[in-house]
Amino acid sequence: MKIDRRKFLSLTGGAALFGLAGKASYEAFAAGEVDKAIGEHKAKTRWAMVIDLRILKDHPEEYDNIINACNLDHNVPKIDDERHEIKWVWKEDFHHAFIEQENFFYPNEVRHMNVILMCNHCDNPPCVNVCPTQATWKREEDGIVMMDWHRCIGCRYCMAACPYGSRSFNWVDPKPLLKEMNGDFPARTKGVVEKCTFCASRISQGKQPACVEACKTGALKFGNLYDRESEIRKVLRDNYSIRRKPELGTQPEVYYLI
Ligand code: SF4
Repeated sequence: MKIDRRKFLSLTGGAALFGLAGKASYEAFAAGEVDKAIGEHKAKTRWAMVIDLRILKDHPEEYDNIINACNLDHNVPKIDDERHEIKWVWKEDFHHAFIEQENFFYPNEVRHMNVILMCNHCDNPPCVNVCPTQATWKREEDGIVMMDWHRCIGCRYCMAACPYGSRSFNWVDPKPLLKEMNGDFPARTKGVVEKCTFCASRISQGKQPACVEACKTGALKFGNLYDRESEIRKVLRDNYSIRRKPELGTQPEVYYLI
């Protein structure tokens, strides 16, 4: 299926506007009536991640624990050539990840610390709107932005639409590059796009995402935003949090505590 440039731009632009104006419940969210807004949703679950940068700053060993656990669980190969790199969870300088939120007076230790990045499982994901084959979609029941690699035709519109660089393209066959293989998870093929799935398969078995399980300091927390009593809601109530590029209206569901 072909999508011309004009249609592509209208889809991505429309996606941003949808998040701001399309859902009545956002008005209730904006008015601070969070639980009223949640009550209006059909779904009872909205998975989200909280990343506590205050903890990570003091535990640099956790970056590798988190990234390696994800790579191992999902058969993500390590590729040294940056042009071919596959990233589900990765680290980035705070200054680059949150450039729009920074001011000159941030402490240097924050500005140059590493942060953990991943797909934000946006509530209003522009990547979904541009996919011509519905190989990527947002699950109604819990908000996870999924991928079906068998339906992906490798057009990479989703990569162009994602403002967070959360998607990677398999320029080469990843299988020969895997040192270890997790037989419970499918390996991808050359020519398809991939990204973090919030460990949807583990969640369906009642487990935590691999990155959260591997992070022993509790810097990563995963839970249901629609459950007022969940730990993640408590953490977000009691702490100041930021999200990446909030001005785009994508409503990222990965929150950072600074
Ligand atoms: Fe899509 Fe990017 Fe948002 Fe993930 S972070 S849901 S890939 S727009």
